[in-house]
Amino acid sequence: MRPKSVSFIGLGRMGSEMAFNLFSKKFAQASDTHFVICDAIPDASKSFCETFISQFPGAKIGIAATPEEAVLASQTIITMLPSSPQVQTVYAQANGIIPTLRSLPPDAARNTLCIDSTTLDVKIARDVAADVLLTGADIVDAPVSGGVTGAKAGTLAFMVGGTPEGFILAEPILAYMGARIVHCGPSGAGLGTKICNNLILGVQQVAVAEGMLLGQKLGLDPAVLAAVINSSTGSCWASSVNNPVPGALPEKSPPCERDYEGGFATALMLKDMGLATDIASESGSPLPLAHAAAKIYSEVLKSQPELARKDFSSVYRYLSNASAAGTKVAFGELVSVRK
Ligand code: NAD
Repeated sequence: MRPKSVSFIGLGRMGSEMAFNLFSKKFAQASDTHFVICDAIPDASKSFCETFISQFPGAKIGIAATPEEAVLASQTIITMLPSSPQVQTVYAQANGIIPTLRSLPPDAARNTLCIDSTTLDVKIARDVAADVLLTGADIVDAPVSGGVTGAKAGTLAFMVGGTPEGFILAEPILAYMGARIVHCGPSGAGLGTKICNNLILGVQQVAVAEGMLLGQKLGLDPAVLAAVINSSTGSCWASSVNNPVPGALPEKSPPCERDYEGGFATALMLKDMGLATDIASESGSPLPLAHAAAKIYSEVLKSQPELARKDFSSVYRYLSNASAAGTKVAFGELVSVRK
């Protein structure tokens, strides 16, 4: 059964949408494929299974209680977990992926492909990948860009790190879930690419929030200001797609129009800024603006914890509230300037 089986571990906001696309498209092509899901929250697996079966009656889908069961069932395993600690647990723990791969006959291990789409620390990912490769199995890091909307639509961008052979094996599987799949280099290169991208994005979103807030103070119409920025040199995704001011993008529907719901969580952006600043300090790369932005996101969560799960463009609301309270924000430090 292993060759015709695919396991997906981590059915959160991204993973559940990705697994649904992968399984439904694969089922349409080969209805004898066996699907296996695994999550630390048993109800997440149960409700995924029930929804999938209700839409694809006759599909073979099962629940693995542990990563070990998922590996024993399938020679293709996709993981989509919160971050480094969960990846270490799922891959390296006693009933995890790596010890199970070691226990398989050499041929079965050699035919196994692991795809980790988690955004995590590059060094930890490389260490995990090295241990997987020692078992004879292949692994690629394949973090994504595109958010829950892209995961649902099957239009994610995958940034892949691994051997050319690993990329060739992974690409057709990733194509069920994404529209753009780029081989960025060896193990860890996909993650490195993702982290550099998100560091730029995190800084840009703060800069757009600052510029748009200043515009409000100057009495400018947010739609006029955004239209000029978006056709001028200040243009960037944070302004033209994810503008944080309600009414700034009348033709679009950014998260700010829904009380900052449904985007990329501020807590995840803070995690990604931390991954960038950590790896930069190890490699001696200066990140003055990323450090300042990371401090600001951290302060957002400390002072307004309700923004942790809301879109990170809600940093605009934080700055706006700080301004209304007469609080100065300097490099992420709050300094009271008005009693
Ligand atoms: P999430 O927290 O919604 O989902 C993670 C899932 O993993 C949960 O269902 C959790 O129960 C499960 N899990 C945790 N530990 C486990 C374990 N030991 N065994 C099995 N399952 C376990 O997170 P998400 O929003 O789906 O994000 C997943 C990854 O994708 C993160 O690394 C995130 O940074 C990245 N990402 C997220 C977005 C986004 O918009 N949400 C966008 C791009 C990238």
